[in-house]
Amino acid sequence: MAKPKLAVYWAASCGGCDIAILDIEDKILAVADFFDLCFWPCVADFKYADVEAMEDKSITLTLFNGAIRSEENYHVAQLLRQKSVVLCAFGSCAADGCIPALANFYNLDSILDYVYLRSPSLENGSKIIPQPVTKVPEGQLTIPKLWNTVRTLGQTVDVDYIIPGCPPQSDQIAAVVEAVIDILKNGKPLPPKGTVLGATDKTCCDECPRVRNVKKIKEFKRIWELDQVDPDLCLMEQGIVCCGPATRSGCGAKCVKAGVSCRGCYGKPVNVRDQGAKMVASLASVIDSTDPKEIEKIVSTISDPLGTFYRFSLADSMLRRVQA
Ligand code: SF4
Ligand code: SF4
Ligand code: SF4
Repeated sequence: MAKPKLAVYWAASCGGCDIAILDIEDKILAVADFFDLCFWPCVADFKYADVEAMEDKSITLTLFNGAIRSEENYHVAQLLRQKSVVLCAFGSCAADGCIPALANFYNLDSILDYVYLRSPSLENGSKIIPQPVTKVPEGQLTIPKLWNTVRTLGQTVDVDYIIPGCPPQSDQIAAVVEAVIDILKNGKPLPPKGTVLGATDKTCCDECPRVRNVKKIKEFKRIWELDQVDPDLCLMEQGIVCCGPATRSGCGAKCVKAGVSCRGCYGKPVNVRDQGAKMVASLASVIDSTDPKEIEKIVSTISDPLGTFYRFSLADSMLRRVQA
């Protein structure tokens, strides 16, 4: 019997999610043994034409990492949706937009202007900004057109499951892969569409072993500004912004156990629409003042609030751009 086909793809991403798959160590052998790896451009020379030639729904499972920020990303997202039985948004970029979607604080023109004309480390004497189509003596050169707004995979095509994280933790990937093999081998039913795999219904705070008391914050600080960080006390209680209350659990509170705050990479928890708004609500409940002026002063000590609260979820959030 033919093996089930597996595809892995990266769109607008850093490649960390691909590395995380390899981090499942010897379990990768079970993956290689069970699946026919039909498309994974990061590890072998597959072409889009290979996928285009496949029958619709002939790929059993696609793990799609990366956000959608170009015509090329969108084309491959549509293609893999058409060819796959199950399409998983794999990692924070595909699920929530993640770091690539921080571009949505700006518009495309201002990004290209900064990168190609004003960046301090730049030498671009001819002031060339790459264009989707460039005429050269030999003909036309084309590169994928960038979108003005970076989108999540689910905002562009129908997605079956989400595996969160930046990147998803390797033990969670291994567990998901084992579960998928078990389902396919033994004819078990798939989880309901839309299920978030490799995570739980709780928050990062629920997995955090740090001691919590009543939080009363008069000033927020970055971790390096503290003379000493208590290794056992909730970081938020020490005045360090920690996104644990606004983040889905699943990583085992990895960062807070290692002594740094949760940055929110597992995305919004269950029943939360907007991760940044949830974080604002969490902070509002720990600020130790009722005086509007003092509250404003305390809030002003939060460094880069938008980038902190929406580092991973801006594309998925309710915020919309102010620049066209
Ligand atoms: S989710 Fe994180 S690790 Fe994965 S591709 Fe995006 S930025 Fe890289
Ligand atoms: S706010 Fe951060 S440090 Fe405090 S309990 Fe939650 S995850 Fe742990
Ligand atoms: S502690 Fe937070 S930032 Fe760190 S891996 Fe877990 S969810 Fe991601």
